[in-house]
Amino acid sequence: MKRNLVSFFLLLVITPILFAGDPGGSKKKTKPPKNIILMIGDGMGTAQVYAGLTATHDKLNIARCPISGFVKTFSADNYITDSGAGSTAFATGHKTNNGYISVSPAGDKLPTILEIAEKHGLATGLVATSSITHATPAGFIAHTSNRGNMEDIALDFLKTDIDVFIGGGYNDFALRKDSLNLIDSLRTHGYFVARDLKDVDLPLVTRLGALLAAGQMPRMAAGRGNMLPDATEMALKILKRNKKGFFIMIEGSQIDWGGHDNNLDYIVEEMVDFDKAVGKALDFAGKNGETLVIVTADHETGGLAITGGDMQKGTVTGSFVYKDHTGVMVPLFAYGPGAEKFSGIMDNTDVNKKCMALFGF
Ligand code: MG
Ligand code: ZN
Repeated sequence: MKRNLVSFFLLLVITPILFAGDPGGSKKKTKPPKNIILMIGDGMGTAQVYAGLTATHDKLNIARCPISGFVKTFSADNYITDSGAGSTAFATGHKTNNGYISVSPAGDKLPTILEIAEKHGLATGLVATSSITHATPAGFIAHTSNRGNMEDIALDFLKTDIDVFIGGGYNDFALRKDSLNLIDSLRTHGYFVARDLKDVDLPLVTRLGALLAAGQMPRMAAGRGNMLPDATEMALKILKRNKKGFFIMIEGSQIDWGGHDNNLDYIVEEMVDFDKAVGKALDFAGKNGETLVIVTADHETGGLAITGGDMQKGTVTGSFVYKDHTGVMVPLFAYGPGAEKFSGIMDNTDVNKKCMALFGF
C-alpha cells in the first residue's frame, strides 16, 4: 500500500514534466494536424543541408523545426533509389522499382495520399521547380511504370480533383504527340491556367494550374527568381480555404541536379531557395497551429562531402565521389502537431504511413 502511494505521488510529479515539453511546436499535443505540408528537397543529404546552412550564415529556416530524424531510401529493386521509387514510397507507403511512378513492381496502381485526401474532401496541391510531370510530383498524382512518359503523366492530372499545381511542363499539356489540348481540358475542369504567377488574381481563382515553363523550370542562376517561395505562399492561400484541411507536396527539385553536375554552387543556390520556401511553410504553420510541416529528401545525390567553409563569410567548399544518387540515409525535419512521430530512423514508406495515420485515413 505504502509503495503504491509512493508510485502515485511519483506519477503526480512526473506526469506534468513529461507533458510540459512541446517538441512539435503545437499548442495541443493530442490534436492531430488538419493540414500536412510535405517538402522534398530532391537529392538533399545532410551535406547539402549543411552547405545551405553555411551559405545563410547559420540562419537556415529548416533549423526552426524542433524534431529531426533519418530516412532509409532504398527501393524495391535497388539499394540506390531513383526519384520515381522515392516519390512512390512517400506518396503510397509502398516500395517499388526504380523508374516506376505509384505502381507496384507488378504494375498494379497504388493509391496516393493526395488522391485519398481528395476522396476525403481535403484540398490538395503540388509545387515543383522541375516540370510538374517530373518524377517527384508525378508520384503523388500519376500511375505508370515509365517515369519518362511525361505526356501520360499530364493526362493523370485530369483524373483527380487537385486544387493547385505549380511548376514547369507546359508542353506536356499543350504540345502533345496525341494532339490533345489538355490546357482546354483543364479550363473545362475549372482551372485557371497561368503561364506567370503575376497573372493569378487570387480572390477569383478557385483551382490553379500554373505551368511556368515549357519544360523544366530554369535553375536559380538562370533567373528562376522567387518562384518557389512565391508559389508556396500562393498555394497555401488557396488550400487554406478548405475547412476540412489540405495536403500539399512542395519540391526543391534541382538540389539533385546540382549533385548530378557535381556543382556545389548549383546545390547551394537551390538549397537556399528551397529553404526560403520552407520558411514560408513554417510561417504559415506557426500562425495556423493545425499544420504539420515535414521537410525531407528522396535520396542524396553526388556523395557530397563538406571539405571546408566559413560561417561568417558564408562560403563552403566540397568534394563529390559520384555523379549519381547514393544510398546514405537522408535527414527529416518536422514542425507542428504530430511532428514528434517523426524522430529516429524510419523507412521512406513510414513517412507516408505516419501521415496517413495522422489524417485518420
Ligand atoms: Mg525530383
Ligand atoms: Zn537525380
